Amino acid sequence: MFPGEFEYHAPETIEEALDLLSRHGSDAKLLAGGHSLIPMMKLRLASSQHLVDLKNLKSSLSYIREENGDLAIGALTTHTEVEVSESLQQKAAPLAEAAGLIGDVQVRNMGTLGGSLAHADPAADQPAPALALEAQLVAQGPGGRRTIPADQFFFGFFATALQQDELLVEVRVAGLGANSGGAYLKVPHPASGYAVCGVAAVVETDGGGNCVKCRVGVTGISDGAYRATGVESALEGSAISADAIAAASAHATDGVEPLDDYFAGADYRRALAATYVKRALTTASERAGG
Ligand SMILES: Cc1cc2nc3c(=O)[nH]c(=O)nc-3n(C[C@H](O)[C@H](O)[C@H](O)COP(=O)(O)OP(=O)(O)OC[C@H]3O[C@@H](n4cnc5c(N)ncnc54)[C@H](O)[C@@H]3O)c2cc1C
Repeated sequence: MFPGEFEYHAPETIEEALDLLSRHGSDAKLLAGGHSLIPMMKLRLASSQHLVDLKNLKSSLSYIREENGDLAIGALTTHTEVEVSESLQQKAAPLAEAAGLIGDVQVRNMGTLGGSLAHADPAADQPAPALALEAQLVAQGPGGRRTIPADQFFFGFFATALQQDELLVEVRVAGLGANSGGAYLKVPHPASGYAVCGVAAVVETDGGGNCVKCRVGVTGISDGAYRATGVESALEGSAISADAIAAASAHATDGVEPLDDYFAGADYRRALAATYVKRALTTASERAGG
């Protein structure tokens, strides 16, 4: 399969890329790792008259930095770079663990964190850790930069808060501190590797076995990644125990309409979500020392 014809651009700066987006409006598309966009263009599920390749922006948008306890990750950082980063493994484990479970080595070497979040595939992995870690997503447009909290970024099926003329430039997360732990667990689709169910959990304890904060991001279950707020409020303020985690996990799909397809029916997805929320919370709590 071949994509439709397009004009190719390879801007040297963020400003040039933004200028191309402004000039060509909805006729322009950004190209990062290309591992979602190119297959969609070849299948003619997406088309673009102007393809704006971000490859020359790698030097400015590919990095992992620690800044005052926060971690700043450039949008063009690849899944492999996220996976192997010691800072992320130690302070934002769900992001590093999710990156290591994406597709195969070729996909991880080409695909980017920014591309994954901006694409917002309902079965993509990284939206779940972004939600659980309360990531701040930095978008740059003609008027400058703005920061979008992860729970205001995803709007369901391939939809985000990004405007057509904006570039996602950075993802920021507060590093997990003492008495905090996080984990990402996934049931991959056997053919594609995408998440049939992916759960990121972050737990903070008071050091005495009580949960003071819990955040849970879920992907693969519905038309977009979501925060399982029913789980969070059920566990917060409780003494952490297997029973408390199991009771909280029963809220994994509260208010959510699970997808129903040939591979996984809605009831199966509900059961997967509850089971994997329980497992992710258990691991996160153990890592928090709770
Ligand atoms: C065989 C295969 C298996 C895969 N398995 C998995 C999996 O298990 N889990 C998973 O999560 N993903 C999986 N993927 C998808 C992969 O992770 C992609 O790399 C990712 O979804 C998109 O990142 P990208 O950099 O390739 O983006 P691209 O494909 O280049 O772009 C995707 C979309 O995001 C937009 N975009 C990209 N970067 C930006 C930016 N900085 N700002 C604004 N918009 C931007 C583009 O315009 C486009 O619309 C798989 C892909 C393949 C081909």
